[in-house]
Amino acid sequence: CGIVGYIGKRDVAPLLLEGLQRLEYRGYDSAGVVVSSPKTPALKMVKAKGRVRDLEAKVPARFKGTTGIAHTRWATHGAPSDVNAHPHMSADDKVAVVHNGIIDNASDLRRKLEADGVEFLSDTDTEVLTHLIARASAEKLEDKVREALRVVEGTYGIAVMHADFPDRIVVARNGSPVVLGIGEKEMFVASDIAALVTHTRQIVTLDDGEMATLKADDFRTYTTEGTRTSAEPTTVEWEA
Ligand code: GLU
Repeated sequence: CGIVGYIGKRDVAPLLLEGLQRLEYRGYDSAGVVVSSPKTPALKMVKAKGRVRDLEAKVPARFKGTTGIAHTRWATHGAPSDVNAHPHMSADDKVAVVHNGIIDNASDLRRKLEADGVEFLSDTDTEVLTHLIARASAEKLEDKVREALRVVEGTYGIAVMHADFPDRIVVARNGSPVVLGIGEKEMFVASDIAALVTHTRQIVTLDDGEMATLKADDFRTYTTEGTRTSAEPTTVEWEA
């Protein structure tokens, strides 16, 4: 349902929780957040059924990071629960994915992955993405995500973090909105500009079939085939 992500220098968890609150009006049944930092790239995750404040109550005191992605879920596949809340992480805890939309061929992909020995933790369609990215043979994170998306049918706005690539967030869009917020040595991503406008008015809206790599001081957009696309930020007017 809702996605917020950030990469920069700030303490990321409070910033993402505040962003999720700005998306609450869309409705949701659970929420979650994952954070890391270039110095401690191991991913730390908290998820909770219920409200953003229920998630907030579960966030431990030491939950520091400067990169993170967060989600409010409106369940389509799998009941609302702590485990079905996003992000979804791979078995080695290296890949984290938040997803809006529906993966139509998820049960097919899940059966194949399970036949290959992958253990699923949740009942969501989203979790297939996590395992596909974790098992992709390509070297770069962008290419791993692309490899996963190639076999996926359905709609998605996704944001991906990987412990081996702590300097970036990779996002992709097909049928679910994804907007980038361009800051000063910090970058934002969200499913809705409402989550971004308190931080920046410089917005890039992704098209279907488009992906982006966000680094703290840089971003680029390209098609799922890898061709660079031009992304001149536009300034949005917004009544606070
Ligand atoms: N289909 C996914 C799920 O059920 C994502 C739902 C959403 O867009 O929040 O977990």
